[in-house]
Amino acid sequence: MKDLYKLTVKEASEKIQAGEISSEELTKSCLERVKEMEPEINAFITVTEKYALTRAKEIDKKLSKKELRSPLVGIPYSLKDVYVTKGIETTAGSRILKGYIPQYDATVHRRIEEAGGILIGKTNCDPFGFGSSTEHSGYGVTKNPNNTDYVPGGSSGGSGAAVAYGGGLYSIAEDTGGSIRCPASFCGVDGLKVTYGRVSRYGALAYASSYDTVGPIAQNAEDIALIMSVIAGKDPFDATSFEGGKDDPPDYSRNLGKSLKGRKIGLPKEYYGKGLDDEVRNVIEKAIDKYKSLGCETVEISLPYTEFAIAAYYVVGISEASSNLARYDGIRYGIDVEAEGWKEKMQEVRSRGFSDEAKRRIMVGTYALSKGYADKYYKKAQKVRQLLRNDFERALNEVDIILTPTMPVLPFKIGENIDDPLKMWLVDAFTAAINPVGVPALSVNAGTSKDGLPVGMQLIGPHFLEDRLLNFAHIFEAS
Ligand code: GLN
Repeated sequence: MKDLYKLTVKEASEKIQAGEISSEELTKSCLERVKEMEPEINAFITVTEKYALTRAKEIDKKLSKKELRSPLVGIPYSLKDVYVTKGIETTAGSRILKGYIPQYDATVHRRIEEAGGILIGKTNCDPFGFGSSTEHSGYGVTKNPNNTDYVPGGSSGGSGAAVAYGGGLYSIAEDTGGSIRCPASFCGVDGLKVTYGRVSRYGALAYASSYDTVGPIAQNAEDIALIMSVIAGKDPFDATSFEGGKDDPPDYSRNLGKSLKGRKIGLPKEYYGKGLDDEVRNVIEKAIDKYKSLGCETVEISLPYTEFAIAAYYVVGISEASSNLARYDGIRYGIDVEAEGWKEKMQEVRSRGFSDEAKRRIMVGTYALSKGYADKYYKKAQKVRQLLRNDFERALNEVDIILTPTMPVLPFKIGENIDDPLKMWLVDAFTAAINPVGVPALSVNAGTSKDGLPVGMQLIGPHFLEDRLLNFAHIFEAS
């Protein structure tokens, strides 16, 4: 069979279970695709070819004995390089971790391996998740497979690009303020930011501990549902993971296909005002019309604290980051350099190893936490965070889901915003508002601009109701 890399997870899984294709064939197809595309796209920092092929053979053996039944058996996937993998270099996209070989596996990776998944590589990203374009990576920029003059979004740009071109059937990425949704939107695929605590973060290199979430990027909502049922659930190694009881995690596919007749979609007026690109608006309006034709009702709602969301997000986010990054000092973690004393060594490691964007965040975050400024910035931002939570709670009591564009702009050109950090931060306006609140949000490919650049819509729902978002997306995709 040709071009197996184009299959969805669902299709591939059915073929593997039925014995129509082997995991080895599928894995080879994806690896060949990676070889073909990587010289141009650069979605991967590490390709684990040998590891993947050995595992695929093993899995095929187990499959022939009917030992494995998960929908992810034998399916090749990639991991954002912020997840530790035993014996496989893990860099978080930063030069400061060049050569770091972890001693253990992140829970999300372990769960997928236990289900029979095949890791084909670690994907490129902005260092520690700091960015929206993957241009800050210490391992070269990733290009958007839809048009290589453009960024793939970020910080999980490698994951978005890999899924878009068929370098693995799905990817596990990380979302602190949009890093799953932005690349999903820019690359024309789907990505789920899960409810805070829904998926274990054990073994994820931290950016902002009160925002970080682990989630999938895949070709469609049906695939995301299959992946979620494997990766979600309580983990004794992560105290922030949600204790859902004995029927947890749920079967995320159970609601797919449920009619949307009479369901209410909230359209927050603050997300459709000035600053929204006209082409993005057109695509989103068409998607809204489609939902109406499927029997949904739309309601204009208001999230009045939206204008402060991005400021609050960044103040809290980089404050936490400045603390989380203290461990990269060349003593506990970080590259080794020659220096006179430990102070000089630490200075040298951090100045050589961190990107400009990481340095910017460490400095501003440290400032926002320092005595005399913590009340003015950090604590104030936490208060705004509570107001944002109230906004969403109120709105989600009135409607089933909230629908917004994922990004206010189309993918931008490589180099276009790189010298303007503030502009770069502002493109996160719609995604970054969600993480301080903690609810789930799904970016769904909604169409393309006149020039063929992808546009994503963001579906937001109440805590732990990822399956509701997946159904809304699935119905849209199926029609
Ligand atoms: N672009 C956002 C930031 O730079 C989001 C990053 C993320 O989700 N990791 O903070």
